[in-house]
Amino acid sequence: MAVKTIWPIDHTCGHHADRDLPDRPADRRAGFAEWLARQECTDCWRASNEGDEQDKAAWLKAKRAEEQTASEAWSEQYRMPPLEGTERAVPWGVRCRHQILTNAYTALVTEGFSVKFSVLS
Ligand SMILES: [Zn+2]
Repeated sequence: MAVKTIWPIDHTCGHHADRDLPDRPADRRAGFAEWLARQECTDCWRASNEGDEQDKAAWLKAKRAEEQTASEAWSEQYRMPPLEGTERAVPWGVRCRHQILTNAYTALVTEGFSVKFSVLS
């Protein structure tokens, strides 16, 4: 008797696929087939993951723009000298300077103060 290795899977997305599962131990196939049936098919899974990638790129772009605005406002507030460079290098430099200096300020001033404060009290 031939061992059954092809399992008909009805995916949650509504697609049907016959999956060949010969690389699974025989006693695990039924469980794996059951698990597959609770997932989307490969195509749908790939499609929704590509959507995530696009969302991520859009999110990153929005976050970058937000950082840029904050960095420029900060540079103006603290009268930072304008940076020189290419069109791409200047915004990057402004963001880096903002990040490094605000991190340093947090570490040296804000956190330094709280350490001294906790020793005194
Ligand atoms: Zn599907």
